Amino acid sequence: MSKTKEVYLSDDVRKQNRLRIISQFRLHGKKSRTEISTLADLSAGTVTNVSTTLLDDGIIRVCEPEGAKQSSASHGRPRVQLELNPEYKFVVAGSLTFNSISLSMFDYLGDKVATVQEKVVLENMAGNEIAQIILSMIDGLGISATPSIFVLGVQGLTNNNGSEILWSPILSDSGMKFADHLSKQSKAEVIVANDSAMIARSLSKDKAYAEGTFAAVLMSYGIGLGLYIDGQPFKGAKSSASELGHISFKGSDGALCRCKKHGCVEAYASDYAIWRRAKQLDPNTLPENPVTSEDIANIIEEAKQGEGPAREAIREAGRAIGFGLAIMFGLFDAFPVVFVGRGAQALDLMQDDIKQSLDEHFRFHKQFDVAFAKSSDALIHVENGSSIVGLEWLDQQAAFGKS
Ligand SMILES: [Zn+2]
Repeated sequence: MSKTKEVYLSDDVRKQNRLRIISQFRLHGKKSRTEISTLADLSAGTVTNVSTTLLDDGIIRVCEPEGAKQSSASHGRPRVQLELNPEYKFVVAGSLTFNSISLSMFDYLGDKVATVQEKVVLENMAGNEIAQIILSMIDGLGISATPSIFVLGVQGLTNNNGSEILWSPILSDSGMKFADHLSKQSKAEVIVANDSAMIARSLSKDKAYAEGTFAAVLMSYGIGLGLYIDGQPFKGAKSSASELGHISFKGSDGALCRCKKHGCVEAYASDYAIWRRAKQLDPNTLPENPVTSEDIANIIEEAKQGEGPAREAIREAGRAIGFGLAIMFGLFDAFPVVFVGRGAQALDLMQDDIKQSLDEHFRFHKQFDVAFAKSSDALIHVENGSSIVGLEWLDQQAAFGKS
């Protein structure tokens, strides 16, 4: 009995060492065995043994020696450098939005090898149709490599392990099951992820946020929240996300939300809400056509000119966001917030109203200096965060999978 257990333990240690060494290459790029030994805090012998099996498995490769000619001229034996093998496996990372699918293929080194975007309205589509479109987009890239994993950011709620979409405002009930179809048809792993969580994952690679607690607030078609606590992504007990958009801001007498309830933060701060208010439309109606980035940019321009419905719409959005953040801060303490998405472009105009709302609703506001920032294109962050998740999954497979 005890002998069997010992074998399991040593096998476990061996796999852990594989992951430690792979992770160092992931973090630092090209390194010699000696450097990896220092970085991973493993003996030279262990690094030699493990790197031999990683080379045999095609997970790492020997780099072409840079300046090899100079080295031989100076009689110095060039130090062999190793790196992750880009050809080992591939990740498709991207996002589904209400009117488009964006996909990019990344090699194992993390370099983007191809990208494709298709305009397609997903609302009434069945899951197998969506899977088909994704696969034909990948075929259209004309790359011989097949992806081992898809990681796709989508607005809505997913279960904790990313295998299933629980709710999404942009997909039908059948559409939400596209991941199942995609996984069966492609024979690849498929992870679906909340888009705001992927934005936060992308921002977590920024030194300013790496160790800390921060939130990414996506102001777009809806209001999303991706939260990091002490350098770790926050997940709900069962689902992917904490909720900011559907916190009740004005109660049941408030404006109509897309979730069919009234008074949610989203019903004041999302792009359709800002547009509805700026156009002085009935707060109990939802716009029939999706609001575009251009619509929002025009409202922001109008608001900059002075008082009027556009300015008031932005102000109201700021108050709703401030209220939502006050609830979050009450639970977790105050943290820096990065605003992303088209609505975030109004941050300069909203900032005072957000702070005023925080003053009213967050008891300890004076003890914290809450830092706000805005960041560029939301879809790039979703893709970036998704590729990080995909590569981490491949690293785990490479370390713990068969062989
Ligand atoms: Zn709602």
